[in-house]
Amino acid sequence: MATIYINKENLFYNLNKISSINPNIIAVIKDNAYGHGIITISKLLKEFGIKKVAVRNNAEADIVKGFFEEVLVFNPLTNRNAFNISYAINSLNQLKKNRHPYIHLKINTGMNRNGIEIDEIDKAFEIILKKEFELKGVFSHFCCSEEEGTDRFIQYEKFKEVKEKVIKFCKEHSIKKPYFHIANSTALSFLPDTFDYVRPGIAIYGGIEGYKPVMSLVAKALHTRVIKNDGVGYNKKFFSKEEIKITTVDVGYADGIPYFKNGCILKNTKAVGKISMDYMAVLGEFKEVVVFDDIKEFVKNFDTITYDILVKMSPRIKRVIK
Ligand SMILES: *Cc1c(COP(=O)(O)O)cnc(C)c1O
Repeated sequence: MATIYINKENLFYNLNKISSINPNIIAVIKDNAYGHGIITISKLLKEFGIKKVAVRNNAEADIVKGFFEEVLVFNPLTNRNAFNISYAINSLNQLKKNRHPYIHLKINTGMNRNGIEIDEIDKAFEIILKKEFELKGVFSHFCCSEEEGTDRFIQYEKFKEVKEKVIKFCKEHSIKKPYFHIANSTALSFLPDTFDYVRPGIAIYGGIEGYKPVMSLVAKALHTRVIKNDGVGYNKKFFSKEEIKITTVDVGYADGIPYFKNGCILKNTKAVGKISMDYMAVLGEFKEVVVFDDIKEFVKNFDTITYDILVKMSPRIKRVIK
């Protein structure tokens, strides 16, 4: 079976680069650490000195709660949980039902996906006081941080207003000030103020420009054959008149590689024809084949984004730190 190598040096390079902007990092490791392997990545983040992470759900929080001081759950259940787990509050309704004491209030500043509205903040405060929740954080999320000339500054300004409002409320009621966070990866480079914590995901894994790739996928060759005037794979989509060597390698779309019908450019060679569930055919003779070692290059084969390919890499594939 293929192997996923996790490049520790590049991971640490990315973390250092983020730290130079703001050293207070909530590392986003949701969805199996963007497919990199949540335990493997958690160990490395801990070694680097990361204290806070964000995960998708309670199941992921349970896996990593031993590694970190605080684990923020983006989409939690309503039951109670461990002391170092915090729940994101995505709506007033959820806040009303919530029974977990440590919360981060999410404010909708324009993404219109989840979070309470700015004019619902007073109502939320009421519930927080009455139920004696500990407000650990207040946050929001950008809809278009990578695009210039969009709502990103409107959202930034709104969040600054939110911060003032929350601080005023905390003073009035003598409760501890929460910390504020809004910056995802692409916001890191343009925000005049990144607030108390930053919340990057894809930058950590090197899936955007300026950061180094962390994942590489290396497949094992099963055998090499010579063909001439013949086709390869399903429907013989690839056909060669010339005599050529073809190597079958042991990864396919079941492992998370996006489906392709007509070949695909790899690091040192080309896959040809249609990809199979568990295999693909590449041009040439190899013992092993680097399917990709920079997701930013590999993604160009497909009509999708780096996140989408990384996050779907099968958890069955062995992760090895190198
Ligand atoms: C996924 C996610 C992030 C990280 O986004 P990147 O674009 O990967 O940096 C941050 N905050 C929230 C709420 C998210 O869902």
